[in-house]
Amino acid sequence: MWNSRKVGILGGGQLGRMLVESCNRLNIQANVLDAENSPAKLISFHDGHVTGSFKEREAVRQLAKSCDVMTAEIEHVDTYALEEVASEVQVEPSWQAIRTIQNKFNQKEHLRQYGIPMADHRELIKNTPEELAEVGEQLGYPMMLKSKTMAYDGRGNFRVNSKEDIPEALEALKDRPLYAEKWAYFKMELAVMVIKTKDEVLSYPTVETVQEDSICKLVYAPARNVSDKINEEAQALARKAVAAFEGKGAFGVEMFLLEDNSLMLCEIASRIHNSGHYTIEGCGLSQFDSHIRAIMDLPIPAKSLEIRQPSIMLNIIGGSAPDTHLKAAEAALSIPNAAIHLYSKGAAKPGRKMGHITVTAATMHEAETIIQPLIDVVDNIRA
Ligand code: ATP
Ligand code: MG
Ligand code: MG
Repeated sequence: MWNSRKVGILGGGQLGRMLVESCNRLNIQANVLDAENSPAKLISFHDGHVTGSFKEREAVRQLAKSCDVMTAEIEHVDTYALEEVASEVQVEPSWQAIRTIQNKFNQKEHLRQYGIPMADHRELIKNTPEELAEVGEQLGYPMMLKSKTMAYDGRGNFRVNSKEDIPEALEALKDRPLYAEKWAYFKMELAVMVIKTKDEVLSYPTVETVQEDSICKLVYAPARNVSDKINEEAQALARKAVAAFEGKGAFGVEMFLLEDNSLMLCEIASRIHNSGHYTIEGCGLSQFDSHIRAIMDLPIPAKSLEIRQPSIMLNIIGGSAPDTHLKAAEAALSIPNAAIHLYSKGAAKPGRKMGHITVTAATMHEAETIIQPLIDVVDNIRA
């Protein structure tokens, strides 16, 4: 292989696994730090993996010794460990970017300096009912109370509808660092995958995301009923936001499209992202391919980020029984142009992402028709 440098990946869940799929096709060795038999390790047979957690300093040090470029499938990693090893191994994106982004409040304070539009927000210091009531006076109701850290799939968010909800909200997010956001009355949620290379900031087209119980359920690529102008504006906003951070690789940018067609940033993830899974079948290069190329300084032809065919991605989320998610995969076997991705996570827990299905078709309407029976199956699993 022309490039024998090794990649180290913090985290071996589904995102790490799909990164390994991209590495494998380029003969790049990916060393994964996570528990034994994690999804990424199951498709990568060599003795370079590290057993442990991306939150353990010693394990991060060990991974650093075994690779040339280190990256992460998750932002909730020990960035102090990353800072320590950054002198001996390349860390992408930078530990500074990951540290700022992993704290949603700090992320927003940082982005504010770059003029990125966001929902008005207030930091909580004491987390008392009196303090939150004062914030409620300022932001109005409803407002979203959010944990600054360790947030994912809406676990860390609480909608505060009125002053009466304050005790319940503070109880639900007890012992977590908090801030509150003004309610965003969006008509649609949009997302853009941004790829930061050594000298460019590239973007994939704008997609539409549909969340159910704060978990991403569906992604429509490109976003439906969105003008070219808004599609371009969303990409420009996403690139501008990502340009505010140091380092290379993929970043997922979530946005709100408001009633007046203006855009607001929801949050950034310093990694490959669920909203970009459609790129595996929908584009010339997937977000995983592009991430690996970006951190290894390999060429990324801009044309390869265009959508080749309209695509819809449906997440398969754990249901009431440990194997209900397999019903969706089984149903997809008979659907034309349905690519099935199961993550080898073993038994499902309710709400856990177990796999996804992407349907591509000549038109978005056709893709919608083809995927509808699968959406029905998924809805029945969750019910
Ligand atoms: P993720 O899994 O994407 O990391 P998360 O737990 O970090 O999710 P957010 O992305 O902040 O949480 O919010 C989850 C969802 O909650 C959003 O996609 C949106 O539907 C809703 N939401 C978040 N903030 C607001 C807001 N200020 N106003 C209205 N709805 C909001
Ligand atoms: Mg998040
Ligand atoms: Mg989010």
